[in-house]
Amino acid sequence: MAFTLLSDLKAGRCSNTAEVRLLRVWEARNINKGMELMSLDMLLIDENSTVVHGTVSALLQLRFRPRMTEGSVYTLSGFDVTRSSPKYRLSDAPVAIRFNDGTEFEKLSTTSRTIPTEHFRFRPYDQILGLANTGRQLPDVMGELSAIRSTITDRIPGAQRVMLNLRLESDTTVCVSIFDSLALAFHSKLDVYGKEPRIVVVTAVNPKLVSGKLYLNGTSATRVFFDSETAVGVDALARLPSGGTDQAGSSSKVVHAQKIEPMTVSELNQFIFTADPQIIEFLCTAKVTEIQLDEGWCYIGCSTCSKKLIREETSFTCVPCNETNAVAKLKYRVILSVSDDTGAAAFLGFDEEIASLTHVLASDAAHIVGIGTNAQVDIDLPRSLANLVGSTYTFQLRLKDFNFGPNHRSFTISRIFPARDLAPKPTFSDGGEDTDQSIPQSVATGLDVGAAIVNNGADQLTDADGARMVHEAAASGEDAGEATARKKARVE
Ligand SMILES: [Zn+2]
Repeated sequence: MAFTLLSDLKAGRCSNTAEVRLLRVWEARNINKGMELMSLDMLLIDENSTVVHGTVSALLQLRFRPRMTEGSVYTLSGFDVTRSSPKYRLSDAPVAIRFNDGTEFEKLSTTSRTIPTEHFRFRPYDQILGLANTGRQLPDVMGELSAIRSTITDRIPGAQRVMLNLRLESDTTVCVSIFDSLALAFHSKLDVYGKEPRIVVVTAVNPKLVSGKLYLNGTSATRVFFDSETAVGVDALARLPSGGTDQAGSSSKVVHAQKIEPMTVSELNQFIFTADPQIIEFLCTAKVTEIQLDEGWCYIGCSTCSKKLIREETSFTCVPCNETNAVAKLKYRVILSVSDDTGAAAFLGFDEEIASLTHVLASDAAHIVGIGTNAQVDIDLPRSLANLVGSTYTFQLRLKDFNFGPNHRSFTISRIFPARDLAPKPTFSDGGEDTDQSIPQSVATGLDVGAAIVNNGADQLTDADGARMVHEAAASGEDAGEATARKKARVE
């Protein structure tokens, strides 16, 4: 069988054999379809350093997956060659490879060819900026780690997100933002590594401009490498002023706090039409003008898992719990009309967030009458909900892919902070030795939690800022809902 270089591939079926190294392999999942597996994707490289994007459909992936080991060399033949997609490109090659029924992909124990073991597509800062919001390229980035900000802590519930500040060799600092399973994987890697890395390589990032600030968002193809895990990392370490030796006693770069950008209602409304679909959080301070009742204010949920129950003739079924006789509990699902000086929008709040505002559980505010298909709720609009109208809150909103575009209906609330009578920003000594107990009690209230995050404009983290953010994170560990609930109890 004839041998081919990847650079010689032409569109159509290829019966020649290529010899390639499997650089990386990852799962592409559809977040709009319950994370359904779409394909197994990979980067293949040959002896001429040509990198080609390869794809195995979800139907065929089980056949190839068991023999796929990153770093190994394979012979590849009997595959389809297609034009590269112009979107989210991971290679500079004009073609891509698609595995088919007849594809042969055999691991080689040895090879006489010299095939690179790594390949990155670093871009200068100006080019990364030019790629922002275009969705054309997913470049790689390498820099010296200057800060790790994380929302994965025991104290701050909600979205899992890690932001890494990396100083590029051009001395510009960029912010890499990774979410959910990638964020968890990053923390596991950090734990195993046992120390804070100095040089970090992040692959396949999607540059985004949000409110004028550049974020390099992680994608399903993103990998993170520390220090000497890559050859480019070894070189970069050697170029650092200290020559890559450990600086004993250097201060921690980990800052357990989050900074979520504030936006006005009109900025939010614009963002979902102008930005590409993504998962992102914002803060928005707005006044509740109405409780929308077209879809009711509650749903009948499972008392175990809170998911919506299916109404049968004389019972409720919970699919996640696999329970045909589930115990029902009323849960909030409330659409709030809100507005500020700039515009109006609809915010969707679920059980816990709404209960933290009303201080009344949905199941205490009304009762389910009847069972199964006949079940009804005995109150049209509880007073505790109606009383929210006219109040102003700071809402933390979590936007997902389906929020974007013309079918947009409402923003989902992930947290709510009371925004009335904003307390002055708490001040702390810079000693950094305060324990949780020494934080003044007045700081640990729901009011201050909102103020602390809204006011936190620290883009460049100094050591003092870092210490303060740690304190604020600790302070916010006091549950906002509980704190205000206690206040109310005292008044009554
Ligand atoms: Zn359930």
